[in-house]
Amino acid sequence: MMNPTDLEIRDLNYMVRSYDGLNKLIVQVQLRKHSLLPERPMDSLQILYGYKSQKEGNYQGLIALKHKLNSDIGKLLDAWPIWSNWLAMVPGIGPYIGGKHIIMHYYRMTAICPDCGGELEKKEGAFICSSCGKNVKGDGNLTYRIDRRDWRQASSWWHYMGLHNAPHCRTCGRRVTKENGLFMCDKCKKPEPDPVYRKPKKQKGMQADWSSQGRAIAYQVGQAFIKKNNGHLYRAYYDKRRAMRDKTHPDASKAHKMNMALNETIKLFESHFWMVARELEGLPVPLPRICEMDPNHKLITPYYWEGIEPVIT
Ligand SMILES: [Zn+2]
Ligand SMILES: [Zn+2]
Repeated sequence: MMNPTDLEIRDLNYMVRSYDGLNKLIVQVQLRKHSLLPERPMDSLQILYGYKSQKEGNYQGLIALKHKLNSDIGKLLDAWPIWSNWLAMVPGIGPYIGGKHIIMHYYRMTAICPDCGGELEKKEGAFICSSCGKNVKGDGNLTYRIDRRDWRQASSWWHYMGLHNAPHCRTCGRRVTKENGLFMCDKCKKPEPDPVYRKPKKQKGMQADWSSQGRAIAYQVGQAFIKKNNGHLYRAYYDKRRAMRDKTHPDASKAHKMNMALNETIKLFESHFWMVARELEGLPVPLPRICEMDPNHKLITPYYWEGIEPVIT
């Protein structure tokens, strides 16, 4: 069963975070090139693509390093059955996407105080220990406690990954919250009886209950799938949903219809991730609410997964 060691978890977390950091740097270098050296030719991007020097030999650039990190992440992943039994078989899901999902799905990393083990709270850019009050410097050298996460429903995993819809004010577009059974808009200072449901954005002064990194990696999954040809099972699902939108939303723009289908495909993959993870751990897989309520609604079981018989409750 699922038993990676503490060291393996920390190792994977370290590698995935390093990949994220490197990727961010690559984007910054590209943007900086465009703003500072718009006229210089492409070879001013040696930082990314590598240096060729007759005297000193060749140096690899940041992009080659990124590919190396990706394959090194792959070497760590066999400790997780969800990788070796499923993700590795899904075309388009590479080591980084797999590793990032594993870290986000299974673990909560809580920054703790090196002196007393108390949890740290972020206050105005500083990390303050909630038990002893010590001010701990951040800079990537915090100490973490690893806790296991448990997602009871596929929808709670979707929510964490930022794939859920939330109610918004029709007048100003701000996220509305329920107070005494009524949706209230803080900005318009009035109730919103008929809110619009859409994906929430991060909003100033509001603590988000979902992860923007989760949304970003889920989006990468969608991008990877639509690049595949239609023999790919998730790609085929996308094509089917995209075609269906011509009937259900004939007036919607092409981009809007593609987006709807892409969102559904991403959600399908993420619910499959959740189902396979639970099956592998011998946990019951509750039927989605929609299948419970409508017996004609067919459950789509995970693609590329032979599976063990699910314990449906
Ligand atoms: Zn402390
Ligand atoms: Zn409003």
